[in-house]
Amino acid sequence: MADLSSKNLKLAIQKEGRLTEETLEFLRKAGLEFESYKQRLFSTCKNFPLEIIYLRDDDIPDYVASGTVDLGVVGQNILYEERPKVKKLLNLRFGSCSLIIAVPKESAVSQIKDLKGKTIATTYPLSVKYFFKKNKIAVNVVRIKGSVEIAPALGVAQAIADLTSTGSTLALNDLRILTKIYESEAVLVANRKILSQVSKKIILEKLLTRFKAVLSAKNYKYVMMNAPQNLLPKIRKIVPGLKSPTISPLAKQGWITIQVVVKEDVFWQTIEKLKSLGVSSIIVLPIEKTII
Ligand code: ATP
Ligand code: ZN
Repeated sequence: MADLSSKNLKLAIQKEGRLTEETLEFLRKAGLEFESYKQRLFSTCKNFPLEIIYLRDDDIPDYVASGTVDLGVVGQNILYEERPKVKKLLNLRFGSCSLIIAVPKESAVSQIKDLKGKTIATTYPLSVKYFFKKNKIAVNVVRIKGSVEIAPALGVAQAIADLTSTGSTLALNDLRILTKIYESEAVLVANRKILSQVSKKIILEKLLTRFKAVLSAKNYKYVMMNAPQNLLPKIRKIVPGLKSPTISPLAKQGWITIQVVVKEDVFWQTIEKLKSLGVSSIIVLPIEKTII
């Protein structure tokens, strides 16, 4: 049973929705052990002073701002919309989506200024109003809580502004994207006062070290390969590695095996260069964590 009056840090996450699974997976990758199942209101970590509280995502910013919980995981989109008084600590690199404006495929609207005087349905009225104000276009914005994409078909609006990640729901509803308002991903936010409470700050720093280790591991791959020993100087130039590579001899005379960490953004270039040098048996493994 969780003890919410304890000195443990309290982290709010989405109870059931698009962010839930990836948030739980992220916490587990950070080495946190806890039980979680539907219907559960909170979990206590077994190996870290942390309580996990499950809430509707829209409620999380207020709970964090008021200090009912110390930390929360929410979409950046909710911060843009609600502008709660919380401190953003980390971008978590999952839950990516964009707030876009879309119109029916057959609509005559081809650019945002064609929306002047028209009605736009959205769950994010403040973000949309701000966007049109910035672009000096007068529009009507109506707030709809769910299934925004059917508003044009119902005649409620001539355009919508909604979150999308793949665009498939839009295509399914015969909508075409006009423009993007902003991009979003899951973020970790904190109550502003927790940073001045020494005991909580110490726990928070430990938690952040774990989170950052999970995030930075996403940027690297572990690569193992076999090569003739005389290629080593050339290989070293191609893959400088995180530190110096691990090199061991193979049973085959004159051959070595090399293990090295490669940055994700140069990964394919590096592999192609290695192959053209004559390196063989290249094995690539994901890295769970890097602690540097
Ligand atoms: P709740 O019941 O918690 O209020 P919800 O229906 O408001 O849930 P979800 O649809 O589960 O919210 O989305 C939660 C978050 O997931 C969004 O705020 C956004 O940050 C992110 N997200 C990622 N991809 C998408 C997408 N394609 N559509 C909507 N949200 C997305
Ligand atoms: Zn919600």
